[in-house]
Amino acid sequence: MNMNRRTFVIHSLVGSAALAIAGAGRAEAPKVLETDPNAVALGYKDDATKADKAKFPKYAAGQHCGSCQLYQGPATGLGNCPLFAGKAVPAAAWCSAYVKKA
Ligand code: SF4
Repeated sequence: MNMNRRTFVIHSLVGSAALAIAGAGRAEAPKVLETDPNAVALGYKDDATKADKAKFPKYAAGQHCGSCQLYQGPATGLGNCPLFAGKAVPAAAWCSAYVKKA
C-alpha cells in the first residue's frame, strides 16, 4: 500500500467512526408516556386538547408544548422539555407547568 492510499484508508476509517458517533448522538429519546409518574403528576397529555380542564383550570385552548417557554424543538413532531429529561415530548402535548413562550 503506498502512502497516499494508506492515508486515504485511515482518513476514511476515522471519518466513518465520526459519522457513527454523530449518528448515535442524534438517536431520538423515547417519548414521554402519559402513565410515567411525573407525567401523571403534571397532568401531561400527548394531545393538549385532552388536558384535564377540571383538574387544571389554567389550561386554555391553544396551549401546547410548541408554544411553551420550556420546549426546545421543531414546531411539529418531537422536541425536548427539561421537566422530562431523557424523554421526547410532542409539540402538540401539554402539561400543567406550561408557560407561554415570551
Ligand atoms: S413544561 Fe411546557 S414543554 Fe414541558 S411538557 Fe409542559 S407544556 Fe410541554
